[in-house]
Amino acid sequence: MKRLILFFVFLSFFSCQRKEEVSKDIFPLFSAWGRASIFEDKSDQEILDYLKNLKSSHVDAVFLDAPNETYKHVSPLFKKAGVLLHAWRPTMINNSKEIMAKHKDWYTVSREGVNVVDNPPYVDYYHFMCPRNPEVKEYLIQEYLKIARIPGIASIHFDYIRYCDVYLPDALQPHYGLVQDHEMAPYDFCYCDRCRAAFKKEYGRDPMELEDPSKDKDWAAFRLDPIVDIVNTVAARVKKETGVAASAAVFPTPEMSRTHVRQDWSRFEIDAVCPMIYNGFYNKPISWIGETVKEDVETMGTPKTLLAGVYVPDIKETEKMNEAIDQALDNGAKGVVFFNLPDMTQAHFDLIKKRYEMYQKTHQK
Ligand SMILES: [Zn+2]
Repeated sequence: MKRLILFFVFLSFFSCQRKEEVSKDIFPLFSAWGRASIFEDKSDQEILDYLKNLKSSHVDAVFLDAPNETYKHVSPLFKKAGVLLHAWRPTMINNSKEIMAKHKDWYTVSREGVNVVDNPPYVDYYHFMCPRNPEVKEYLIQEYLKIARIPGIASIHFDYIRYCDVYLPDALQPHYGLVQDHEMAPYDFCYCDRCRAAFKKEYGRDPMELEDPSKDKDWAAFRLDPIVDIVNTVAARVKKETGVAASAAVFPTPEMSRTHVRQDWSRFEIDAVCPMIYNGFYNKPISWIGETVKEDVETMGTPKTLLAGVYVPDIKETEKMNEAIDQALDNGAKGVVFFNLPDMTQAHFDLIKKRYEMYQKTHQK
């Protein structure tokens, strides 16, 4: 018996060690989001110089939103510069004209019965697919496998891994002339035939016919599950078939994410999460970054590396950025991700370099 216990102790020690190694290796202290446009009209040498500058500032990883062809092109340059390349890709939003024309039934339907293909909510690109549709799930598995098979990808990075916003962040609501003090029908999804039938089969009621669907706890929970399932299924398949890790950009806390966008990232079984703790979006001070990170560490559920996402225009003065870094790291984040590269100046990079060096000194074994 004792030997058996020892064996399990050894096993769990070994698995912790491995997890820590993966995290440390591919999710460094400082990284940034960026889109393919940062490389537009740049020669390979110019891209390499740009990446080398990031490396020398210890922005050691980039979450890049780009077509697969761009990943293939820039991946060797990332390797040469020593910067990690994470493949950032919207998940549930899909603006492909071909897919919208061919598979309208893949898309979500509001409580008003409107398909997002006909009339997307808030903005013209808000074409969210239905997470309960098995064809959508299979499509996403194949898409992420294609990305993960590109040599040099450190992780697949889910974004828009959620439903349409039930509630917009506070600071954005006035831009749309909205006061969202309850779940409003045009922003409440998904009431497609498949989702309605599946819920009715399990619970005996049609969500479309509920007097106030926001009061139905089963209906709320029912919609969280398929997003969790897509993340966990895609991440497991990608890990199994390619060995590539998975990460996700998520809303500030699990609690907020469930309420605002029906995203329960506490149940995401992935290597890392990057909660977008954009204080300005919620009219909050920089100290809110620390409070949020603390709540995340306490409520993140399935263990994963936590990198605090910060919005550079909200903290563009270096003193503010410095404070944001303190707030994140002092409260349990393993790193900070900056949104996004075009907003970052050399003064920011110099600060990050200084903070990296300080961190190395204080964390030397
Ligand atoms: Zn649906």
